[in-house]
Amino acid sequence: MTASASNGPPRMRLSVIGIGYLGLTHAVCMADLGHDVLAIDVDSAKVAMAARGEAPFFEPGLEPLLRKNLDAGNLRFTTSYREIAEFAEVHFLCVGTPEGENGAADLAYVHAAAGALAPHLRGRCLIAGKSTVPAGTARQLLATIRRAAPAGELVDLAWNPEFLREGFAVQDTLSPDRFVFGVTSPAAADLLRQVYRQPLAAGSPCLVMDLETAELVKVSANAFLATKISFINEMAAVCEAAGGDVMALAEALGHDERIGRRSLAPGLGFGGGCLPKDIRAFRATGLKLGRKPLVNLLDSVEEINLGRRARVAELAREMLGGSVCGHRVAVLGVAFKPNSDDVRDSPGLDVCRRLAAEGAVVTVHDPAAMVNAARLWPDLGYRQSVTEAVTGADLVLHLTEWREYRALDPSALAQVVAQRKLIDARCALNAELWRDAGWAVRILGQR
Ligand code: NAD
Repeated sequence: MTASASNGPPRMRLSVIGIGYLGLTHAVCMADLGHDVLAIDVDSAKVAMAARGEAPFFEPGLEPLLRKNLDAGNLRFTTSYREIAEFAEVHFLCVGTPEGENGAADLAYVHAAAGALAPHLRGRCLIAGKSTVPAGTARQLLATIRRAAPAGELVDLAWNPEFLREGFAVQDTLSPDRFVFGVTSPAAADLLRQVYRQPLAAGSPCLVMDLETAELVKVSANAFLATKISFINEMAAVCEAAGGDVMALAEALGHDERIGRRSLAPGLGFGGGCLPKDIRAFRATGLKLGRKPLVNLLDSVEEINLGRRARVAELAREMLGGSVCGHRVAVLGVAFKPNSDDVRDSPGLDVCRRLAAEGAVVTVHDPAAMVNAARLWPDLGYRQSVTEAVTGADLVLHLTEWREYRALDPSALAQVVAQRKLIDARCALNAELWRDAGWAVRILGQR
């Protein structure tokens, strides 16, 4: 470890491999904690952007912090594995683990990164995996890397899964709910404690365990969250059928401390680059391990989740007299969640796709995600303002609960639409306000 010039916290030399949502945030935050960070990606355009101080994606607070640490000189970017191997004492592995065959995690990027790094490792170092991987990956990777690295047994490996939420990534990285260290040696845990010295001192709990359990913590946390979301969404469907109000139900359930209010928000369900693929990967693990109950549970979670998207399309047909064909539908929000430009497995975009396939003319507004959405679905109409998007619309769909949509003036929008019809698929708008302005409003989870 290199000592800092001042009496500040000890500076460590870290590398971060893969500068996507997770890796870039991690690199920037580790530099902000005072470490010297060298980050690498195989995508040279991304590396060049980051080196210029531009984040390749939208994440609140990230870009100013990126610039600050570039200017301070303790954050740099490269495409050279030799350079990071010679530089860093801890290498954080943050590459993607997308969905592969039969839903299982595709570990090709993890193996490629490890394979590119290992031949350059000539001295003692720690590789800390942060990507989400199936149980058993880390132990296998450690053996492979030790075989390929000139440093052999001097290379150690830990699994330090990441729990950050897009939209809160900086805050979650700098002060996480907990740290999980999967290790095979006390020295690895000590090194990680040094990296995270400041958040640990500020009170973030730290749990040290074996590699397999650490890998499982991440996927089971995601499975639990997805189950909670799907549970309340199934209750929304039950409320629609039985004549209840799921918002009142969720509130009453949430007051029970054993249940809790968080992630009990009914709506269009989960999406994004993590939860859906992690659930499918865990299902594949369940199959491999012969755990039928886990497979059945996760199948139900997914069925309920996709069912909410189908339900919005069904409600749209109902509100437009049986068919959306030829009708103009305005969509507010296609990011998979607010405060993000991520449209990977976006529930909102999926609804757009379903309605467009049925002949609706779909126009879209989103404060941050339109560029990414247009890349996937160039045929939808993208508008720079809500007013432009809803002008002439027969139906307005609220599909991502951006804060600014709550502040919309339903009376003003009523002047520009063709029909005052709204579906609030996120149960987040003030329905009374919209109804007072003459809108017919349907809310998921209310009859
Ligand atoms: P991403 O696709 O945004 O980024 C992955 C990056 O890795 C890309 O920039 C890619 O070019 C780079 N890469 C691929 N192969 C490489 C190689 N051989 N060497 C160097 N770079 C390489 O993915 P992400 O969302 O950042 O997710 C990364 C991992 O973190 C996944 O396992 C994911 O499940 C997990 N995770 C993500 C989040 C999140 O909110 N996005 C949260 C927790 C965990």
